[in-house]
Amino acid sequence: SGPAAVMAISCPWRTPNVTRGTGPVSAKSINQIATLGVRQGHEIAITAAGPDADAALAALQALVEANFGEAEEALEAPAEALAPPMPLAEGELVGIPASPGVAIGPAVLLQELVPEVPQRTVEDAQAEWERLQAAIHAAQREIQGLRTRAAARMGDYEAAIFDAHLLFLEDPALIDAARQRIFEARINAEAAWQAAVEEVAAAYRALDDPYLRARAADVEDVGRRVLRLLTGTAPASLEFEEPAILIAADLTPSDTAQLDPEKVLGICTALGGATSHSAILARALGIPAVVGVGPAILRLSNGARVALDGEQGRVWIDPDPQTAAALEARREKWLARQRAARQASQRPAATRDGRRVEVAANIRGLADARIALEYGAEGVGLLRTEFLYLDRVSAPSEEEQAAAYQAIAEVLGKRPLIIRTLDIGGDKPVPYLDLEEEANPFLGWRGIRLCLDRPELLKTQLRAILRASPGHQIKVMFPMVSTVEEVQAAKEVFAAAQAELRREGIPFDEAMEVGIMIEVPSAVAMAEQLAAEVDFFSIGTNDLTQYTLAADRTNPHVASLADAFHPAVLRLVQQAVQAAHRAGIWVGLCGELAGEPLAAPILVGLGLDELSMNPPAIPAVKQAIGRLTVAEAEAIAQEALKLGSAQAVREYVARLTAP
Ligand code: PEP
Ligand code: MG
Repeated sequence: SGPAAVMAISCPWRTPNVTRGTGPVSAKSINQIATLGVRQGHEIAITAAGPDADAALAALQALVEANFGEAEEALEAPAEALAPPMPLAEGELVGIPASPGVAIGPAVLLQELVPEVPQRTVEDAQAEWERLQAAIHAAQREIQGLRTRAAARMGDYEAAIFDAHLLFLEDPALIDAARQRIFEARINAEAAWQAAVEEVAAAYRALDDPYLRARAADVEDVGRRVLRLLTGTAPASLEFEEPAILIAADLTPSDTAQLDPEKVLGICTALGGATSHSAILARALGIPAVVGVGPAILRLSNGARVALDGEQGRVWIDPDPQTAAALEARREKWLARQRAARQASQRPAATRDGRRVEVAANIRGLADARIALEYGAEGVGLLRTEFLYLDRVSAPSEEEQAAAYQAIAEVLGKRPLIIRTLDIGGDKPVPYLDLEEEANPFLGWRGIRLCLDRPELLKTQLRAILRASPGHQIKVMFPMVSTVEEVQAAKEVFAAAQAELRREGIPFDEAMEVGIMIEVPSAVAMAEQLAAEVDFFSIGTNDLTQYTLAADRTNPHVASLADAFHPAVLRLVQQAVQAAHRAGIWVGLCGELAGEPLAAPILVGLGLDELSMNPPAIPAVKQAIGRLTVAEAEAIAQEALKLGSAQAVREYVARLTAP
């Protein structure tokens, strides 16, 4: 380490408040930073030590000056409690409106299974510490799984709640506190962990800011997950036999993310606030919710009739017939509005003058396929098959893969399903592939390059894809193509797989389309030659952007450079589309850019035939496509290509399409 450097920052958009004089805390601990209680307008000093100190502070300074990449908008004051709109009648409770909608039905009280945590002295502290570490790792894996599912059901923004949970679990302050208790007090892992978590949660609860106070529930959620794993307690069942109103003291984000909106008519909790993560998730799932109604609600018995209005934050226990009838009528109206919105998103996407643009989904597995259809996907434009290959000790067999692809194809029926062959690179651990650590994994041995060096791996996957194809509209797509020879070689492996299946008498779709991802600049430059080899292109703007701007998509220092709205990227998209159309093949786009409603006018104007995106983005993109005529979209695209920066493109389209 070297000399310490210090900088003072104050939120630039407001006059600093009085210094609180709290801290210093370690920047590695999310909990210590959050429980400093720093709010907008406070001035804080950041110090760093070591050879990179100046560079680290300069980077932070730049982040602060860029307002952490966020638009400057007035923060809404979180609703803490609302005055009841009318005087309360008997059996009526008021809470915080957390998710709009009206629900009426029988109550089901959630029995919290808080594991018993007896404290005992232990002989072997090391063994307890190892048990705790194993439980933390298992919890991390569970949360990652939950994050993936939440992203598919509700979108990346909501799923990011679980990123915070992962950070809580990495917090050295929390883990060291538990470790210290194990080794110094020589107590069991459960008791040590619970005490450490309780201490952090109490620090959150002591803060003034209601948003930060609500984070105590997140820390406790994470804490309980680890405790459950340590004690081998099964998670509380959230599966209801009949549709019901869920009543609970509080709901954790993990509980809420698992709820089935078909069975949970509404949510009512004794605690919690409008900014609690469970409220955010309830809104994303479209389940009406009232939170923070107080402990009286917990005295209800199972089966009691309850009604709630998530817009007004009101709850009725055993409503009289007149109130019940009025609420039923409002529920019907609310449901009708919901149905209309869903139906609108089920209609095929088209411009105002009737040009069809297929809107498809990017998915990672079977559960996502069902969700994609609910959001109105017209097919799957990208099945990332990596999920089958990760977290295991040997490659998935042909049978296992064929069954997985077939299950997804069954959900989609005759809708298109584009299966991308394995796109794995030197940056992901896949023990059975013996991947070496590479200095530049994104420029290294990944995607089609790796698969062509392991033709057996590729052939097994292609056989599985072919076997799943009869009766469906499966297409196969190769990722990371940079040369024409790669496509020819991949097609040879494909032909070999077809020949084997023919010999074995195994049926498959002889007319299966073969396509490639256009995500390397050389593929754009060679698009004409590549188009002669395949049936379709799908442009991967995530990789195309990082390679075009020479900005690693995972490196935060260059994150602002790697913006797919950059005219440099858009010009390459145009070139690829033109080459495809000249050759008479169709072309889609499946990078994150496809899911940006702001990009829709440009992408339609550039002539893309298909856009494939994360399912929750579908309704808004379909709407954006429907607002313009082809000629209007083309004019917008032409103007965008002439601009000088990504920011200029975003501002230009935002101005034009503002309601
Ligand atoms: C892309 O690169 O745009 C793409 C869709 O593929 P992935 O994000 O899986 O690399
Ligand atoms: Mg890619």
